[in-house]
Amino acid sequence: MTHSDDSCASCKAITESLNRLRKDIPNLKVIADSFENLFLQIAALKESIPLIQPHDSEIDVASFVQGVPILKNLEVDAPRDLFLDSANSIIPAMQKCFPGIGDALEKFLDYVRNKRLISSGFMFQDQAGSSKMLDEMAKDLGLQSDLITFIMSLVSKPFAERISESLTPLPESLIWKKGYCPICGSWPEVSFIRGHDGKRSLRCSFCGHEWGFSRLLCPFCENDDQTKLELFYSEDRSFERAELCQECKKYIVSLDTRNMASDPAPEVAALGMIYLDVLAQEKGFTPGAICTWNVIQAPRNDFS
Ligand SMILES: [Zn+2]
Ligand SMILES: [Zn+2]
Repeated sequence: MTHSDDSCASCKAITESLNRLRKDIPNLKVIADSFENLFLQIAALKESIPLIQPHDSEIDVASFVQGVPILKNLEVDAPRDLFLDSANSIIPAMQKCFPGIGDALEKFLDYVRNKRLISSGFMFQDQAGSSKMLDEMAKDLGLQSDLITFIMSLVSKPFAERISESLTPLPESLIWKKGYCPICGSWPEVSFIRGHDGKRSLRCSFCGHEWGFSRLLCPFCENDDQTKLELFYSEDRSFERAELCQECKKYIVSLDTRNMASDPAPEVAALGMIYLDVLAQEKGFTPGAICTWNVIQAPRNDFS
């Protein structure tokens, strides 16, 4: 599948944001160049997928208020032919970003093309990657489970985003106070500060859903001891920050959009702060959510 700016509104916003990034921070041009196609492929695929309604659209309110994400109790399936389309466009785009895992990506694509993957619905219910199916796939392919989970999460991402769109907006009466996503249960990739009252919202690293969250808590361990929460930023770009938690040693990048001329496309907001990922990781912190861009820096794996 190829993308076309005419048919994909998100693609246009992504391209504009990356152009602005190249202009504002020339050092990030190489990163923007290598990731642009991956972001465009995900956005274009998402728009080509029909709205995906779960089999049972009744939200389990009692579980939800206890902190159980919606998809944990709902069954959804990504149509197989569309899943193959997704693999066919996302895997080559990944090969450009991660030449170090080129062989693994090739094996994965071959596996999907040969119809050995029966369903991808499990990804939405079990993003943590403990799924039996992922383990079996890893064994068949002779690859690490972590790596398979990482590849699957990207190939499934357009579907996760589409499911999330199908389920939102959530009824306002549903209160969610957790640092992980109320739709799919994944950790957030970026925190936004928005509006005249400076409300904080978190953006899910898998399905792209955004939800409100307290400014005084670490999303990952719910630590509220302010002496253990630290903001880290460069003086000339103080609207971009890494929020560090001394308690769990995790961090999240954060963007204060209140004085910005225009908001960046949410898909690429975190990529523009990769210089903060590098600094936070050098200080010994790990990203709360593994994403395509921060995985390069993450010292605890050897994907590339
Ligand atoms: Zn999510
Ligand atoms: Zn924490």
